[in-house]
Amino acid sequence: VSGASYGTGKRSLGVRRAVNTKFVPPVRREDEEDNLGSDELMRRCMPYGNSGRSRGGAEDIPYSELMTDERLKNIEPKMVELIMNEIMDSGPAVTWDDIAGLDLAKSTIQEVVVWPMLRPDIFTGLRGPPKGILLFGPPGTGKTMIGKCIACQSGSTFFSISASSLTSKWVGEGEKMVRAMFAVARCHQPAVIFIDEIDSLLSQRSDSEHESSRRIKTEFLVQLDGATTGNEERLLVVGATNRPQELDEAARRRLVKKLYIPLPENKARQQIIEKLMTSQSHSLVPNDIECICQMTDGYSGADMANLCREAALGPIRSINFADIHHISVDQVRPISAGDFMNALHSIKASVSDKDLQMYEDWNKKFGISG
Ligand code: ADP
Repeated sequence: VSGASYGTGKRSLGVRRAVNTKFVPPVRREDEEDNLGSDELMRRCMPYGNSGRSRGGAEDIPYSELMTDERLKNIEPKMVELIMNEIMDSGPAVTWDDIAGLDLAKSTIQEVVVWPMLRPDIFTGLRGPPKGILLFGPPGTGKTMIGKCIACQSGSTFFSISASSLTSKWVGEGEKMVRAMFAVARCHQPAVIFIDEIDSLLSQRSDSEHESSRRIKTEFLVQLDGATTGNEERLLVVGATNRPQELDEAARRRLVKKLYIPLPENKARQQIIEKLMTSQSHSLVPNDIECICQMTDGYSGADMANLCREAALGPIRSINFADIHHISVDQVRPISAGDFMNALHSIKASVSDKDLQMYEDWNKKFGISG
């Protein structure tokens, strides 16, 4: 990316993103309810796009019946519950239109994974889908959004976990978690298992590797290979990383299609601003937006969202502190181009040129060419 205005606050590859899923310890506390009601559990079993259309999966089976499923035979019930509460995601749906830019990645994903998941009868043999794909690129470019979108658009249940949480949050339980997650996903086919920071799970083995991380990794590879051999299975593993260079050969081989998710181009940055501003009162004219887009070359999608959030605070900052209690909503002035100019001083591009070069190089070597 040329002409980027990089400032302080760059994120380097060595920094991992914070894990933002809410932590529930695998062992229940005494004061907690013994079990969720079966209705609640059933509701959580419902995948995206469940509009009464039966896909022959286990999604409409009550919890009590689900627990008699052969595939959950050796899985502790508390683990199944934990997966359903913490890992199975039934939040708001994501559509392709929500994701700005990335046209090549989006069309490749539709063809390679979404259509085959929708029509497994047509996509057989040579047309069979990969069981694992990798989304790599700078932080904040929409990899998680894409993972969720794949699940929504293919009517699949979405399981989302950050690989680093397997080693850090579920200390001593990571291996069981992996096994349980794949087992529950097999009961909820079609399913998409999204693994963020997959590099921390499948990095090149080092001598210093902790025994427990090694066991988690081995279990994960076993499960991934299981997903590959079972031809009838409609299970897709989507790994995401901003450190692709750390993945070892075993991981690269298993995540067959490797898709580069780059920084948003000018047009995509414009879409992000326009989308975020539709719900706000603002005085931006097309020329202002064009100008902001030119000044944000090198910004990630997340940087753009931060910029808009910061600009949206401009009108609030111009209110007298004493007035904040009684001011009416329509007395808050619209967000202006000046607010964006101010925000540009504090919100800078978070990805460095050096990191971008690394992604480009890795893409040339291992990525799907467009
Ligand atoms: P990643 O998984 O690549 O780190 P996310 O998918 O979590 O990034 O994106 C973080 C946030 O940044 C999103 O919630 C969204 O607000 C914004 N964002 C990033 N990329 C895009 C994009 N291509 N289109 C729209 N919003 C985006």
